[in-house]
Amino acid sequence: MNAQTKSFLEVSNIEAIYGQAILAVRDVTLSVGAGQIVALLGANGAGKTTTLKAISNILGPERGKIVRGGVTWQAESIGKVSASKLVAKGIVQVLEGRRCFSQLTVEENILSGGFVQRPSGRDLARSLEQIYEWFPRLREKRKTKAGLTSGGEQQMVAIGRALMTKPRLVLLDEPSMGLAPIIVQEIFEIIRSLNQSAGVSFLIAEQNANLALRYADYGYILETGRVVASGTSAELLARDDVHEFYLGGSGPAAH
Ligand code: ATP
Repeated sequence: MNAQTKSFLEVSNIEAIYGQAILAVRDVTLSVGAGQIVALLGANGAGKTTTLKAISNILGPERGKIVRGGVTWQAESIGKVSASKLVAKGIVQVLEGRRCFSQLTVEENILSGGFVQRPSGRDLARSLEQIYEWFPRLREKRKTKAGLTSGGEQQMVAIGRALMTKPRLVLLDEPSMGLAPIIVQEIFEIIRSLNQSAGVSFLIAEQNANLALRYADYGYILETGRVVASGTSAELLARDDVHEFYLGGSGPAAH
């Protein structure tokens, strides 16, 4: 990694707690280079969501906070920057569980992400058109209430809404959750093309390590709030211990 990519997103030795005492993340250090897809892997409760929320500064409502370490974005310390200001700086988070406005149409949901930068009507229409090019399924469903669409479509709406902010880095929490494998693959293919064609970087929290490492450049494995392994996707996929504990038991030779 050269010096320029190294200063994109840097998370350094963060420790995060909920309430006064629950230690959810202990000493996590990770980085995302410009143009990279990075996977944050680990089982339920390992600390993936907390790490993403710590980066985008939304632990507060859950009485959580970073008590040690720091986060920098393009060499600027962002530990005290609000989530909405981070959006203006190019970092947006897609929360776990999709969270669409179910009574609004697909199009209204997507548009709701677009007002942050106070665009003109024409810019808004252009951005919307771009989202439909990336997610053709959403164009077909544009007039349908989001609550009546499938889980996969709702995940696409959530990502599309985030993309309306024109981010440089998307923090994506568990995109595969509760979705059929074929849909998950479709979503990851779109992520890859967004990364390659629009240069959007992604930090993706995923329990499905096997899948995420097929698309990511680099991965970190978390266990009880600590990074226990990291490396390029190829390096992680080649490690016997990673296979045994995180990729379903069969060694690399079997893949
Ligand atoms: P999941 O896949 O279930 O979201 P995760 O890897 O994202 O898991 P976190 O949600 O970050 O893990 O949870 C890390 C630890 O922090 C867990 O022990 C969890 O019980 C605890 N935790 C998470 N959210 C809260 C909260 N709001 N209040 C107290 N403890 C919490």
